[in-house]
Amino acid sequence: MILPIVLYGDPVLQQKAADVPAHFDELPVLIENLFETMYAAGGIGLAAPQVGHSLRIFVLDAELADEEAYKGCKMVFINPLILDQSGEPWAYTEGCLSIPELRGDVLRKPKIRLRYEDAERRSHEAEFDGMLARIIQHEYDHVDGRLFVDLLHPLRRRLLQKKLQLIRNGKLRPEYKHKAR
Ligand code: ZN
Repeated sequence: MILPIVLYGDPVLQQKAADVPAHFDELPVLIENLFETMYAAGGIGLAAPQVGHSLRIFVLDAELADEEAYKGCKMVFINPLILDQSGEPWAYTEGCLSIPELRGDVLRKPKIRLRYEDAERRSHEAEFDGMLARIIQHEYDHVDGRLFVDLLHPLRRRLLQKKLQLIRNGKLRPEYKHKAR
């Protein structure tokens, strides 16, 4: 089922999300809905708070960002914890399904070590780098209540204030299904 995407200004996007409980019957449906919603909106990643669930889970399909490097790289991250981030920060222009029509350069470290559970609730500890690390960092920020606009250079953020205000007031809306304000 395609769920409405929550837009900038909704308090759920600024909350630190709760852990997914060990027994959570709705998990398979939530995962399916997150993927379906993400694909329908043309995104490469989507976190549960973006569909109004304040839970520490996100999905991504890195193949949509880089077809050659990440063939079939469709992943689910449950209760993720970034253990380490390293390397020289690099800039990349990010966007977000919850902040339509707005983009900005975000500096992130290129390498991360992450502990997480997959869709079958198996625990993993793994390293990621490059674009895949960046997508994970962006989605991870969502479950911690942070948005990419919070990480922009203050000058750039000031320039975007007008547009952010339009989204907040429901005057700038995306084409895809979203929660009306
Ligand atoms: Zn986002």
